[in-house]
Amino acid sequence: MSDPKPSPPTIFARILAGELPCHKIYEDENVLAFLDIFPLSPGHLLIIPKEQKAYLHELSAGSAAAIGRVLPRLARATMAATGATAYNLLQNNGAAAHQAVFHVHFHLIPKIGDRGLGIGWVPGKLPEADAHHMVARIQDALDSDLS
Ligand code: AMP
Repeated sequence: MSDPKPSPPTIFARILAGELPCHKIYEDENVLAFLDIFPLSPGHLLIIPKEQKAYLHELSAGSAAAIGRVLPRLARATMAATGATAYNLLQNNGAAAHQAVFHVHFHLIPKIGDRGLGIGWVPGKLPEADAHHMVARIQDALDSDLS
């Protein structure tokens, strides 16, 4: 049996490799931030790890920490530059969750007038028994996740 075909590099991997251009805002050893080319609002930017993983849950603790460290600074700079006083952070995982580029990325989306992230939010109910059951299941999974 032949090996599975390697998947082609994502757009963001090609940006990281210098094969495609981007409007770079910030770079360090682990992180790159650049403007989204189809912005929901002025200043909409993407923050990506240099580590090439499709989903957040695959990311190393080091990459996750490096992104977390720089997010507040990028948010302050984007608010100062755009005049926005509100913004959303969005991080999609999986096609069903609206992910189009399969390299981890955080969207930082300023809310400027009616421009920015529109959210469809349909809250359910949380009966006490369901809450206890869910807490137990997630805590069990946490306990068996040794990474
Ligand atoms: P997502 O739906 O979370 O996967 O979002 C992917 C985002 O990447 C979209 O908002 C696109 O506009 C953006 N995008 C795609 N190609 C590029 C590119 N070459 N440079 C900057 N942003 C891009």
